[in-house]
Amino acid sequence: MRTLCIALHDVAPATWPQCEALLAFLDGLGAAPLTLLAVPDFHGRGGFEAAPAITAALRARQARGDAIALHGLRHRDENAPPRTPVDWLRRRVLTAGEGEFAALAADAAARRIREGRERLGRLGFAIDGCVPPAWLASAGTRVALRRSGLRWASSHAALHDLVEDRRLPAPCLTASPRSAWRRGLSRAWLRGLLRATRRTPLLRVGLHPDDVLHPALLAVWSAVLQELLATRAPLTKSQAVAAACVAAPAR
Ligand SMILES: [Zn+2]
Repeated sequence: MRTLCIALHDVAPATWPQCEALLAFLDGLGAAPLTLLAVPDFHGRGGFEAAPAITAALRARQARGDAIALHGLRHRDENAPPRTPVDWLRRRVLTAGEGEFAALAADAAARRIREGRERLGRLGFAIDGCVPPAWLASAGTRVALRRSGLRWASSHAALHDLVEDRRLPAPCLTASPRSAWRRGLSRAWLRGLLRATRRTPLLRVGLHPDDVLHPALLAVWSAVLQELLATRAPLTKSQAVAAACVAAPAR
């Protein structure tokens, strides 16, 4: 059976109204179980500790099968400014300064992973995976992730089993709601990617809170997800990594 991991990015008190609407949308499509990518202190605007009702709602989702994963500590790129044009393009234009782990050394990345994990852990969330914001992970971040004790991480094109040291190819369908031309491109991009990945064993879908603000984009997501859910079993990312291990043990 082909499988599908659906993730909601940027889950935080600051984005909760959009997240809540997207979760209702996904529940309506029967998309569970989901992987919810929580940011412990989104843009330094405060964490889940000050939002008990949101924390309780996420705990309830975890209890019924959704997984909560770490999505950075503050999400934005707070490192020294980019030094080369390519780095500038990557860190400031393509991801709008949201790649928190794009340029971190291993010890700095490890500190953020540890703090984020501890903050979410204290609230009752079982964290076993990490998605670096904008999927940008420096070489130091990749070292820190391998040493973190987490089970999995994900990048643009794959899930990474950090324990077995294996890469599971998993293309990701995602949209960029930041501007009209990007939204137009995203609709064509999603349809094209859907055709191209029909035979891919494991596929990912990444939704962002602001997707819900654009009805045309949401209509595309609805059609795409209905098509995918008719032919693929939804799994959390943890479940997908565990299933790959059972299907093909590393040793
Ligand atoms: Zn994000």
